[in-house]
Amino acid sequence: MTDELDLHALRMRTALRQALRAAEAGEVPVGAAIFKDGHLIAQAHNQTETLKDATAHAEMIAITQAAAAVGDWRLDGMVLYVTKEPCVMCAGAIVLARIPLVVWGVSDPLRGGAASRFQILQSETLNHRTDYLTGVLEAECAALLKDFFKARRSSPEADSPPGAAVV
Ligand code: ZN
Repeated sequence: MTDELDLHALRMRTALRQALRAAEAGEVPVGAAIFKDGHLIAQAHNQTETLKDATAHAEMIAITQAAAAVGDWRLDGMVLYVTKEPCVMCAGAIVLARIPLVVWGVSDPLRGGAASRFQILQSETLNHRTDYLTGVLEAECAALLKDFFKARRSSPEADSPPGAAVV
């Protein structure tokens, strides 16, 4: 089990590096990575502001990359790592893509769409269930978000975007 947790932590580092890139670009710092058979096949960060697109969350971009990499919308056998619990949109996309496991760092009790506020991943009314594991590198993932929102609150043009979690 310890080995498995170490592996998850190692892969979460890839997602964290993406979250840092988001922070550097002034985006809410969330990063994602998708692995298949131990290989990294997709990595992305939140680009909502850059692309002026409410759907440009890290998970959505990574899912599109992974589908392109394997030439199939079904992402069987893949594991998605993301620094923050997916929102309802991303959780829905994860289920539709049939990803079997999602691992995230920090949960989002206010708006989490995967398990906290809405339980999309395990909904019995959908045709697929996705397992999940939480709390991997939680402190680091949370610290990035905290620093980002702290800086934003102290800036004169503070404006919390819709969907942004304050943790
Ligand atoms: Zn999302």
